Amino acid sequence: MSSGKTTRALQRIIESAATSDGAGVKLRRSLGQSPFTRLDPFLMLDEFSSFDANDYIAGFPAHPHRGFETVTYLLDGHMLHEDHLGNRGDLKSGAVQWMTAGRGIIHSEMPQQEHGRMRGFQLWINLPAREKMKPAGYRDIDPAEIPDVALPGGGHAKVIAGTLVSDGHSVPGPIQGLSTDPLYIDVALPAGAAFTQPVAIGHNAFIYVFEGSASVGAPATARILVTHAAGVLAQGDQVEVTAGADGARFLLLAGRPLGEPVVQHGPFVMNTREEIEQAIRDYQSGELTRPAG
Ligand code: MN
Repeated sequence: MSSGKTTRALQRIIESAATSDGAGVKLRRSLGQSPFTRLDPFLMLDEFSSFDANDYIAGFPAHPHRGFETVTYLLDGHMLHEDHLGNRGDLKSGAVQWMTAGRGIIHSEMPQQEHGRMRGFQLWINLPAREKMKPAGYRDIDPAEIPDVALPGGGHAKVIAGTLVSDGHSVPGPIQGLSTDPLYIDVALPAGAAFTQPVAIGHNAFIYVFEGSASVGAPATARILVTHAAGVLAQGDQVEVTAGADGARFLLLAGRPLGEPVVQHGPFVMNTREEIEQAIRDYQSGELTRPAG
């Protein structure tokens, strides 16, 4: 604490639950299991990981979204994304697809392999009311655009969104300047290594461990976060994580909360019941994806 900074404590653990989505893709859902496991502005986090094609090959055939953003980060495998606007993205290991559904998108997300491991994450980030009906947008981020930073205490960090501060240097990721100002970092630490990162005061933050385990918080009050669990952090101005005996690999996510009502019906996330009913009508009539104007 010599820096005078307040380290965020691990406040709540959300164990992931096995479920399936799309055409039967097996996955683990931590945030978003219920309305009580969201962390504004984050709505949902799914981890998918399997060596068995039967668990993933049917993928996510054409389906709609309205009112938020989906971020797909592929660790292993090969997935093809296509949407009604004609966007086509070929996601390979290490790539990210940042999709802003806005007023409406219909897309498919289909694995393009029949062997080997398929592993990655899909994160849903809410949009503020004023942006829920903006035109749909899409960005494919190549692994080469994602900085992979060697950390001073050992290990490395990939910066997908926001800015990593390491050894006094700021390393911006490719995604910047959104309303929710998201921080999305993939951190790999060897056994016993420590990682510290500033997080804006007032932003909500959580950690999702997907390999090994981590001790989260200031050393005197740190708590253990095991594999496949999300740890919601208390307020403070920095995050401190120390890897367990088998090392740790985790996502650090933070964002500016919207403080708005959330009404979700499957792939539609709006502020009111009426807006959800409108989204369903618009999907049924084709209005969801009709160009504005
Ligand atoms: Mn989707």
